[in-house]
Amino acid sequence: MKAIASELLVAIALAILAALAGWFAAGEIGAELMALSAVTFFFLRQLWMVLRLIHWAGCPLGTPTPSASGAWGAVFDALHRRGRLASAEREQATQELDRFRRAAEALPDGVMILDGHRAIEWMNLQAEACLGLKGSVDTGSRITHLLREPEFVAYLDSPDHRGVPLELHTQRNPGRSLQVQAAPFAAGRTLLLVRDVTQLQKLATMRRDFVANVSHELKTPLTVTLGFVETALDALDDTPPHEIAQYLQTAVEQARRMQRLIDDLLTLSALETDSPPPLEDPIDAAALLTDICQEVAALSAGRHRIVLENEGPRGLLGSARELRSAFANLAGNAVRYTPDGGEIVLRWSLEGTAGGRFSVRDSGIGIDPKHLPRLTERFYRVDRGRSRDAGGTGLGLAIVKHVLERHQAALQIESVPGQGSRFSAVFPPHRVQS
Ligand code: ADP
Repeated sequence: MKAIASELLVAIALAILAALAGWFAAGEIGAELMALSAVTFFFLRQLWMVLRLIHWAGCPLGTPTPSASGAWGAVFDALHRRGRLASAEREQATQELDRFRRAAEALPDGVMILDGHRAIEWMNLQAEACLGLKGSVDTGSRITHLLREPEFVAYLDSPDHRGVPLELHTQRNPGRSLQVQAAPFAAGRTLLLVRDVTQLQKLATMRRDFVANVSHELKTPLTVTLGFVETALDALDDTPPHEIAQYLQTAVEQARRMQRLIDDLLTLSALETDSPPPLEDPIDAAALLTDICQEVAALSAGRHRIVLENEGPRGLLGSARELRSAFANLAGNAVRYTPDGGEIVLRWSLEGTAGGRFSVRDSGIGIDPKHLPRLTERFYRVDRGRSRDAGGTGLGLAIVKHVLERHQAALQIESVPGQGSRFSAVFPPHRVQS
């Protein structure tokens, strides 16, 4: 206001001065003429400033405002300040949007925004990966044109899909199980959350199978034990003691079998849940090998020729308890799956680039190659009856695999049916002490 008033005062003063000058120079007519030309000059200046303002308004954002004095200078300064404020606000909004997008990209789950017509407005990379879509191509397309599975279309159509996820298998990403959840929000839009639950489902199936296997494994010896104990009780009065002792002996064997199974299950569970890495105790390889050899000799009870070959590094770094149990498992298997008169060689040797290899070679029954990839699965046996008769639990190699993985070592199995097998634990150089 002040600027406009001073602009008007200047104009009036200019007109008066011009009129006075004209009056002195040429009398009354001269005064009128000079005042008129001053007013005309004033209006022409206003027109010129308006034209500059219109021209500036048509220029790209960020173009500096024209410079001027007086009221127009104040107008241009005010416009300049507002422009700066608006662009700072725009910059802040862009940064916030960018932050939001980056946060959405960092989410472990897929996120997608659909407009009122179910066209994709935006999706993060996880949503693209889960649903087999491509943001650069599919944004703007209707989701139901891309994912045509009837259950998905029906789910989006159903008004009460709020909070209830849908399990989806789509041809765009075969073999994966997805969980999709839709949540309506502002202006008819829908927020779609997508999660890949394939791994979770596999784990749930494994857990179910495991419980079924354990129950099955325990049920048989428990039934046999109960049967023999009951028979022994019924026969107490009219059966000779040595027969009763036989019944009880069988019951004890079955109870021991259950005990072995539970021990192995506890070992496996401890290995799986024991999060801290195994100790880096220095282990004397020669002493460990001698121990295992004595254990094998006791188990074999003279039925096999047992050979010990120690050509390896002096020691190993790791958990003595875990490694002892793994090596004893491999050696025990060699005894159990090698017929009497066979040979078992325990060997500790240097591995290429200074790692170490503990191997157990036997001249036993061998394994058909088709079974090799599955041998370390829990309860996997080539011949269930034979394993049971030999006192196996079906968990030995699963335990070995776990122990070796915890020591960054690998289990190698070579076998020829009818000729024998070699099971090796191969250790990396940092686990070996030369
Ligand atoms: P088990 O308690 O049944 O021996 P393991 O996990 O130790 O369970 O071994 C799994 C299966 O691998 C065994 O049932 C057996 O069929 C096979 N196996 C393991 N070691 C040998 C071996 N040295 N010779 C032949 N077969 C073996």
